[in-house]
Amino acid sequence: MILDKHQRIHNYLRISLTDNCNLRCFYCMPDVDYSFMPSSQLMQADEITEIAKTFIQLGTTKIRLTGGEPLVRKDADTIIKNLSSLPINLSLTTNGVRLHEFIQTILEAQIKSINISLDTLQADKFHLITKRNNFKRVWDNIQLLLENDIHVKLNVVVMRGINDSEITEFVAWTRDTNIHIRFIEFMPFKGNKWVDDKVFTWQDILATIENKYRWIKLKDEANVTTKNYRVPEHKGTFAVISTITAPFCSTCNRMRLTADGRMKNCLFSKDETDILSAFRRGEDIVPLILGNVEAKALERGGQFVEDFHQLQAVGIENRSMIAIGG
Ligand code: SAM
Ligand code: SF4
Repeated sequence: MILDKHQRIHNYLRISLTDNCNLRCFYCMPDVDYSFMPSSQLMQADEITEIAKTFIQLGTTKIRLTGGEPLVRKDADTIIKNLSSLPINLSLTTNGVRLHEFIQTILEAQIKSINISLDTLQADKFHLITKRNNFKRVWDNIQLLLENDIHVKLNVVVMRGINDSEITEFVAWTRDTNIHIRFIEFMPFKGNKWVDDKVFTWQDILATIENKYRWIKLKDEANVTTKNYRVPEHKGTFAVISTITAPFCSTCNRMRLTADGRMKNCLFSKDETDILSAFRRGEDIVPLILGNVEAKALERGGQFVEDFHQLQAVGIENRSMIAIGG
């Protein structure tokens, strides 16, 4: 079992497959001086499987593949196939652009639920946010997953003045469709020009929805990051991920491996443990994994202040989101 010093059991691993991406979301990828990691620096497919097996021996039951964009990696299908044979719940977070090329692999791997990021329902705004014209492709791929009975969780990063006006349209989507919309508070990372007044808080989100819909609170499962809601007559549900105003660290069970094989015990941790180099030298990585989690801070990498308006984002020591793996 992997435990931290606050007695939290860690059984959920998020593996980043690459820091490369086919979109350029401004809140994730720094727009200047960003160079992608060379592929020799990335964990190779067989290394990912072997490292994952060690985490599973230590009690990991769930693995999520992420990035960067996990589906731009040439061997993504091999990695998915390899991991699907292990005794874990396997899932994926993707921008959805290439999902149609992977639908067979996903079905064969018996992945039941996929997180897709889509911050707007307008094609021109999609271009503004991602600098690419892929709205229709993503939209069609969401329909493709729904047709194949794969549950879709939609990640929407809400930013004041950019897409907060679309919140109720996303909720309207849940009326006839069994989709789960997750509104995420905008978080600060290296190079993403975070400012406090762009944060549209959990309370702002609920107040906006309340103007149009009556909602009920749903029971939240253990270890989830979401606060879940439903409009009573709707088929789908919605949630808020309130990392900035009401973090969910007390029940955190998450560990992360960056694409270059560094372990992070929190999205906001300063420190990283180089698992890949030790693995390549043939060393036992178990003590490194245990030590990394043991050192986990109680909340948000120990780098945040209570009032986000006082937060100095430039003072947070971290990678950019695209290089961590969201
Ligand atoms: N490329 C994939 C995608 O977009 O879903 C996976 C990686 S992406 C880094 C994972 C998630 O992090 C996405 O849902 C994205 O919207 C979210 N994300 C990235 N930067 C963020 C930020 N500054 N604040 C909140 N969420 C962010
Ligand atoms: Fe790429 Fe996902 Fe980051 Fe957008 S959020 S730039 S799709 S990794």
